[in-house]
Amino acid sequence: MISQRQLFLSHVAQTSPAPLLLEIVSASGVYLHDINGKKYIDLIAGISVSNIGHCHPKVVKAVQEQAEKFMHLLVYGEYVYAPQTLLAKALCDVLPAQLDNVYLVNSGTEATEAAIKLVKRYSGRAEIISFKKSYHGSTTGALSLMGDEYFKENFRPLMPGTKQIDYGKLEALESITRQTAAVFFEPIQAESGISIPSIEYVQALRKRCDEMGALLVFDEIQTGFGRTGKLFCFEHYDVVPDVLLLAKGMGGGMPIGAFIANKSIMHCLSENPVLGHITTFGGHPVTAAAALANLSVLYSENIIDQVETKGRCFDKYLHHQKAISYRRKGLMIALQFADFETNKKIIDDCIAHGVITDWFLFAPDCLRIGPPLIINENEIEQSCAIINNAMTRHL
Ligand code: PMP
Repeated sequence: MISQRQLFLSHVAQTSPAPLLLEIVSASGVYLHDINGKKYIDLIAGISVSNIGHCHPKVVKAVQEQAEKFMHLLVYGEYVYAPQTLLAKALCDVLPAQLDNVYLVNSGTEATEAAIKLVKRYSGRAEIISFKKSYHGSTTGALSLMGDEYFKENFRPLMPGTKQIDYGKLEALESITRQTAAVFFEPIQAESGISIPSIEYVQALRKRCDEMGALLVFDEIQTGFGRTGKLFCFEHYDVVPDVLLLAKGMGGGMPIGAFIANKSIMHCLSENPVLGHITTFGGHPVTAAAALANLSVLYSENIIDQVETKGRCFDKYLHHQKAISYRRKGLMIALQFADFETNKKIIDDCIAHGVITDWFLFAPDCLRIGPPLIINENEIEQSCAIINNAMTRHL
């Protein structure tokens, strides 16, 4: 019989010459189980997705119940139905008052794409500023904002009018002018290997955008839903973005994203032209039900308040002094080594010993730690021991 692995390699489109090839048959909480009965602690949470753990029973139940009632009905924005309206309301309830209008989409990159259209349409300006080493998605518009030439160059021509400036550097904010429609910003830059800007810098960015009449878009696709110890990372800086992009940890494991703005901005998508952003599946009843359950679990299980304490457990148990550098905010962590080869050996060693970790897109020398937020101290201690042993063997 043809194995699953052979089918995967033959018929599933490949994007890497060296996929991980773990054959997973079930997942629960912080654990993944493979076909050989081996159990892994998932220290990357599907890249900041499974914040409340894999297959949380309340999400599973919400999905099952909604699937039995109805699934897809019509393209976005026509019918009124409960999981979608309740989710939009629940999000607005936990956000600052000006972020009061939610457009539900299917992924992070779609949130970015739609937000690009929104800011251009609203401002009447064409220029979009983003940052070196930023990641906002892989579709053409989002790719145009990406701050890395290697991943862009063979897909040109991309969207004109974009500019990538230095992240975290006050002087670079002068590039934001009255030509700028918007600045797309990750409040912690993830794929550069966890870059954490200062509060002063983020406040200066907000001020510069206000002075120039440019919109400020926060991409919280990776930092959202409790990952940094607050529901959203912007709360750490005491600033409010004009547009907020969400996805990943939003759906409790189901594919959903959103862009959120004030109604006066979002209004642009309903006139000149009407149907300013169209999506068939955006706001899908089943994924909206999952996202609603996910948000309620984050609060009912008091998950976010425990994130910083759990982050400190990593500080305590990880022998991070052995790394070149160690960066952490909440449960977003990077350990930097000399080069990709060293990092890869440590990652492979961890996986062989039952801990799943990874590198970062623009920081191949950095090891990624971003577990489900429900991980407990014992699991943190166990996984750190495995990473420590791997560091001892390979450094
Ligand atoms: N923005 C950020 C900050 C991300 O980390 C990602 C995904 N890695 C995206 C956007 C794109 O999200 P998606 O893969 O759902 O399109």
